[in-house]
Amino acid sequence: MEEWQKLLSRSVVKVDDLPFLPDSEEYRKKLEKVAEVFPIRINSYFLGQIKEPNDPLWKQVVPTLEELDDFLSDEELLVEDPLNEEGDMPVPELVHRYPDRVLLMVNNHCPIICRFCTRKRKIGFPGIVTRETLRKGIEYIRNSPEVRDVILSGGDPLLVPDKELDRILAELRSIPHLEIIRIGTRVPGTLPQRITPELCRTLKKYHPIYFNMHFNHPAEITPEVERACNLLADTGIPLGSQTVLLKGVNDNSQTMRELVHKLLRVRVKPYYLFQADMTLGTNHFRTMVEKGLEIIRDLQGHTSGMGVPAFVIDTPGGGGKVRLLPGSVIEHNEHEVVVKNYDGKVYRYPQPRDPNAEEAARSSDMCQLPA
Ligand SMILES: *Cc1c(COP(=O)(O)O)cnc(C)c1O
Repeated sequence: MEEWQKLLSRSVVKVDDLPFLPDSEEYRKKLEKVAEVFPIRINSYFLGQIKEPNDPLWKQVVPTLEELDDFLSDEELLVEDPLNEEGDMPVPELVHRYPDRVLLMVNNHCPIICRFCTRKRKIGFPGIVTRETLRKGIEYIRNSPEVRDVILSGGDPLLVPDKELDRILAELRSIPHLEIIRIGTRVPGTLPQRITPELCRTLKKYHPIYFNMHFNHPAEITPEVERACNLLADTGIPLGSQTVLLKGVNDNSQTMRELVHKLLRVRVKPYYLFQADMTLGTNHFRTMVEKGLEIIRDLQGHTSGMGVPAFVIDTPGGGGKVRLLPGSVIEHNEHEVVVKNYDGKVYRYPQPRDPNAEEAARSSDMCQLPA
């Protein structure tokens, strides 16, 4: 067994083994009910990074009774599949939502189970993603010439052993119209020992490969994680990070600035900042949408543009991702555009003289929301 497999096999999966629980038998009994609905996993590397109860890492992986609150509400605002992924699956476990790219679930297990996971309905249960669904997914891509980009997701594709990953990547690479392969993974930040020279040798055979990783808090970037990211970057893989805005974990500008700075230092480009999805069992993590705009406003211009992610809502019901920006256009017409810069000063940009200027100015919908 490799080191990462040992760390994974020594995961906390039972309530009794959870770190820093209140010393109450009654509370444990109630938590058992939560764990029956939504499984627990904290691998032993990640467990070792948790320093105290309610710290930002603890909150991401230790269940609380709030997860069952959404079942009591009769509004049915929060649902099992808020993005309606199941409705966009031409074959099981492959989501085809956008014209030219698909999301393929390679397994449904993860190095940790995030309490706020958008796929809470699937993760950690047996028999959802199988050899058969994977075979059908790859076959679908082979028969769909419009698909030029695949995102391997799940679950976490990097929990698949090297040999099998090699086989999956080889099959995908044999599809001539498939241009890029992205790997959506939380492994580098939560089980960095999985990033080995052998894995990198496998990945390198199938370039262009991109990584969309997942980091929520600066405390996740440890020396082990730094080693993993550097190894991946040296393999020639462009590294991006996705972050979920989470109440009590990272919903303030200082934490987010520290996170993006630490990411850039390990050669990871912040890609998306997600407004939390409307997933059943995760309501207690949601923040006001304005909080995300405030964070972007506090980053934009104040630090490296490279470090500013796109703030997006993945729209309930399956409309895909929509980017939101804090307002910067005060006014625009055929003569000029009036904008506000990062520290609130107003500037004017004169338009070129164009015979169609009036029509062009009227037909565009520059965002004019006040910041
Ligand atoms: C997020 C997502 C993608 C990829 O979106 P990009 O904006 O290209 O990163 C593709 N398919 C699905 C279903 C997604 O949720």
